[in-house]
Amino acid sequence: MHSFILFILSTNHTEYSVSIYTGLVAMHRAGVLHGDLAARNVVMRPEHPPVIIDFSHSQVGHSCLGEALCNELIEARKLLALGDADLSGVEQYQTSSL
Ligand SMILES: [Zn+2]
Repeated sequence: MHSFILFILSTNHTEYSVSIYTGLVAMHRAGVLHGDLAARNVVMRPEHPPVIIDFSHSQVGHSCLGEALCNELIEARKLLALGDADLSGVEQYQTSSL
């Protein structure tokens, strides 16, 4: 977690943070809970999108409650220091009512 904070403070982090978050949202949409989102589980390379790795704590069959209610997505936004303004271009993810 400390290295995430250093990363966030060191550069214009928004593009990478939004990319990580967007990937996580896509995972949740597919029913996968990562279970251990941390800096050590994100591979960063210059001029490449970040890649979330290590699914050893993941769970399939996750019924996501949506961005407003899902704990992992809420914690990810805090970890990545993302506010609503940063996510204005990200497709909003809400569970549909059946
Ligand atoms: Zn979720």
